[in-house]
Amino acid sequence: MAAVAHSHGVPLVVDNTFATPYLFRPFEFGADIVCYSATKYLAGHGTLIGGLVVEKGGFNWFNGRFPQIETFFNSFKESIGEEELRKTLFTKRLRIVYLTDLGAHLSPMSSFLLLQGMETLSLRMDRHVENARKVASFLDSHPAVREVSHASLPGNPYHKLARKYFLRGPGAILSIRLKGGSDAALHVLKSVQIFDYMVNVGDAKSLIVHPSTSTHFSQLEEERQAAGVFEDGLRLSVGIEDVEDLIADLQQVLNSIPV
Ligand SMILES: *Cc1c(COP(=O)(O)O)cnc(C)c1O
Repeated sequence: MAAVAHSHGVPLVVDNTFATPYLFRPFEFGADIVCYSATKYLAGHGTLIGGLVVEKGGFNWFNGRFPQIETFFNSFKESIGEEELRKTLFTKRLRIVYLTDLGAHLSPMSSFLLLQGMETLSLRMDRHVENARKVASFLDSHPAVREVSHASLPGNPYHKLARKYFLRGPGAILSIRLKGGSDAALHVLKSVQIFDYMVNVGDAKSLIVHPSTSTHFSQLEEERQAAGVFEDGLRLSVGIEDVEDLIADLQQVLNSIPV
């Protein structure tokens, strides 16, 4: 993807929110810009809304495709200096236009919560990944479950790629489809005790959602199908609780569904 982007003179931008820098480092594979919703794993506790944009530097923004960046460069080359500006031109423009001029700053309290959350990122991610593997494997073996989508499972179409790119594990967001259709999915959603019904992901707590009636409700049926969002589906964000509690929680609900 990086090669295709670069042959067309465009940067490769990767949203690395679900992996975090602990599980995957896109710059090592040719990305130019990496962005994160820090609201998720980076902060880790659902206590703030924030985001990060990280620029590798060295992308040629002067190939005629980016007039807004050239205009910015010309306005600031005297005051900041050409060399300094060129190092990270994209994020310099973000800082000056969106933070300084428009005021889209993170609040001090949110910054504090984010920095404190990041101190435990590696510990949390190891546990998220380990729990997700076990939850995925449990769900995959349950007779009420039609399908589990998580790259840790050998039958998953992304399993081989995940083993190549995600040496520490393929994250902790997974989706399932139930044999009992949307009734079964809504029953699980309402009956779980530990998983919280929440449209967020990447929290220390386990979260569950029915995407077709929440995150994706405004899309057309065919758009949902193309995105892999089905009425019998649930998305799970596996947290860092004791995994036996998580499995027991899912088990008590799934066992109550007639197969
Ligand atoms: C949540 C999310 C966003 C949006 O970020 P907010 O912090 O909620 O504004 C973007 N990308 C991914 C992958 C996300 O999970």
